[in-house]
Amino acid sequence: MEILNYINGEWVKPNAAEYLDVINPATGEVIAKTPLSPKVEVDAAARAASAAFPGWRRVPVNDRVQYLFKLRNLLREHMDEIARLITDECGKTFEESKAEMVRAVENVEVACGMPHLGKGEFVEDIASGIDETMIRQPVGVCATIAPFNFPGMIPFWYLPYALAAGNTYIVKPSEKVPMTMQFIFKLIEQAGFPKGVVHLVNGAKEAVDGILEHPVIRAVTFVGSTAVAKYIYATAAAHGKRVQAQGGAKNPVIVLPDADMDMATKIIADSAFGCAGQRCLAVSFAVTVGTARNAFTESICDAASSRVVGYGMDAGVQMGPVINAASKSRIESLIGLGVQEGAGVPVDGRGAVIKGYERGSFVRPTILADVPRGSEIAKTEIFGPVLSLMHVETVDEAIELVNSGQYGNQASLFTSSGAAARKFKYEAEAGNIGINIGVAAPMAFFPFSGWKESFFGDMHGQGMDAVEFFTQKKVVVERWPKEWTRKF
Ligand code: NAD
Repeated sequence: MEILNYINGEWVKPNAAEYLDVINPATGEVIAKTPLSPKVEVDAAARAASAAFPGWRRVPVNDRVQYLFKLRNLLREHMDEIARLITDECGKTFEESKAEMVRAVENVEVACGMPHLGKGEFVEDIASGIDETMIRQPVGVCATIAPFNFPGMIPFWYLPYALAAGNTYIVKPSEKVPMTMQFIFKLIEQAGFPKGVVHLVNGAKEAVDGILEHPVIRAVTFVGSTAVAKYIYATAAAHGKRVQAQGGAKNPVIVLPDADMDMATKIIADSAFGCAGQRCLAVSFAVTVGTARNAFTESICDAASSRVVGYGMDAGVQMGPVINAASKSRIESLIGLGVQEGAGVPVDGRGAVIKGYERGSFVRPTILADVPRGSEIAKTEIFGPVLSLMHVETVDEAIELVNSGQYGNQASLFTSSGAAARKFKYEAEAGNIGINIGVAAPMAFFPFSGWKESFFGDMHGQGMDAVEFFTQKKVVVERWPKEWTRKF
């Protein structure tokens, strides 16, 4: 597939000095090349988006959402083709790829409610003969900088809300996985948005810096690692932009002795090893309390070692490869670090070779047991199929351990006690909480939350937070004295 930019309603080959190979992580084949667009390409998109903005904001909101209804239907019709592209460039299984697109579509559906969601407020007679109104108006040109792990879904946490609210938009996908958005933009083109309303710019750091520094871009959303999230947050703010930046994660789960152990094991294994652990809501360390230790350790080790690993398009495969060879070696060396720091490896996924896919970047599910508290491996985001186990004696100690981490994307608890669940919901320092849930991914009509080093900003993606982020409030105070009433 040739990777082009989509600027001002045209497919354009960017004037890029450098291209990055896009590699199918299961087969090792080069399947595309991402042009690393220079800043001038971002400038072209931003100027066209700025020129289109006055016309687009004047399109009545119920007409604007008609384009999104069309896009929603096109996404559903082409779901399998999109899912296949996701599997080929990102590695997850075909079913996981389809599930990602279901959430993308759901966000388009929620944004179609903008005629209602974007309504303002009005108070009559704040003083005699004076009324006050709050109107939501679009912000202007907005942009999204996306990560590799959900190439189809993450731009949809933002784009449909931004467009429905009357903004114009630029998407910069991860340079590792450009094919999914390339295809989706063909559907965006078919949906018939007016020229200049939506743009696609492929690239890496230079394109990102072009977005952060551009004077006409008013709002930026970012999803990716914490180090880059901090840079985006600081740089965009320094350039006077509205910004939200989702960062990395190290998600804990607590298993209490009264949990349904079969259910807990199945769900925790799906969370830790689904998408090869490359989900920002993947559980990455489990804290057993009291007598939960032995039963859970044994069953999770069985679940890890029996998981079927391979190419995500092959029938029966439950887990695909990690994104690339560099990631495989980074994950394997972090497992090594865990061992050096004193952890056991009852299930060791290093050195995996899958028959027929010998050039693939596979790491099999791995369990690190008795991970020492305070060790580097207990703190570091691994972003691979590795579950660390820790043990404490009380619920209080477990919650303290959960809250001692730097991240706050998600925390889960497995129990059959309502009181323990309530205590956990109340005290856990994370933006997404799961009770007997392994991946507490908010539906599109809730904010995709995140706390601490997992999120920088105020408003999140999805739902009403996205409406707030992509609109600015204008307050109008009006005096119309009764005496001025004319008789006609
Ligand atoms: P990444 O930070 O490497 O890249 C994300 C985006 O930033 C890409 O578009 C990339 O081009 C750009 N980028 C990378 N380095 C940059 C730099 N130095 N300057 C400017 N731009 C730069 O992240 P990734 O590896 O693509 O994604 C995985 C990370 O994303 C993990 O840490 C994961 O936890 C996180 N993530 C978080 C969430 C969430 O909701 N909190 C969701 C998905 C992924």
